[in-house]
Amino acid sequence: MSLYLAVLLAFFYFVCIRCIYSRNRRNLLKSIKHLINASLSSETKGAGIRALIVTAHPDDECMFFAPTIIQLVALNANVHLLCLSQGNYYNQGALRKQELLRSCALLGIPDFKITILDHRSFPDDPKAEWNISLVSTVIMNHIESHAFNLVLTFDGRGVSSHANHIAIHKAVSHLALTGQVPNDCCFLKLVTVGLFRKYMSFLELPLSWLMPSSLFCCVGLHGYRLAKEAMFCHRTQLLWFRYLYVTFSRYMYVNTFQSIPQAPRNLKIY
Ligand SMILES: [Zn+2]
Repeated sequence: MSLYLAVLLAFFYFVCIRCIYSRNRRNLLKSIKHLINASLSSETKGAGIRALIVTAHPDDECMFFAPTIIQLVALNANVHLLCLSQGNYYNQGALRKQELLRSCALLGIPDFKITILDHRSFPDDPKAEWNISLVSTVIMNHIESHAFNLVLTFDGRGVSSHANHIAIHKAVSHLALTGQVPNDCCFLKLVTVGLFRKYMSFLELPLSWLMPSSLFCCVGLHGYRLAKEAMFCHRTQLLWFRYLYVTFSRYMYVNTFQSIPQAPRNLKIY
């Protein structure tokens, strides 16, 4: 009897996951439209979405943001990536840059939409303190030169607590809080979840769905395989624990974002 009940519950849980995935596919465009306050017609799908993903290192894009990138590309959105370092911690910067380009090509971001900085002020180093003001300036210049209306990056815990991820969050929050963000641009931060939820793989989907968020993006098996292939482009990073990450991380299936509160443009702080 208890086995029968367990099988029934597992069945309903999987049906629930399937429903969340289908519903997200149907509603994602509407959610983004609402966030960027734009009227995107259903014929052009997401062509009016000009999204920028801001990361710190090559591999962040597929380890943490793959579901979002895959879904935005599927919506025909204009997706760019700004990676603030080449990931030169072990002097493999040139190689890692090539890995990033290959990974992005798989995820649907062509080379000309990728900017990889090699700036001595932004070393790939968890102990390095990036200059927040300089990071803000670099990100702001990039936003203005491409007129992005959606910017997605890390939250204050940076998913893995890496100092470089957190520095980007601080820089973006600084821009938002000081009213330097263009009026039609929405800033979103990727929600960091606790260790247990982080390694629940796709089984975590219902929990993320139930938690309040500004944007929810998930992928099915096809999207997961794409994210995994993109991760495997980063051959220099494929240590044993990365295989565990790829197998069990919920970030391979789902991203949830919260809006970063924005002050009115050109707010003067005295
Ligand atoms: Zn990183």
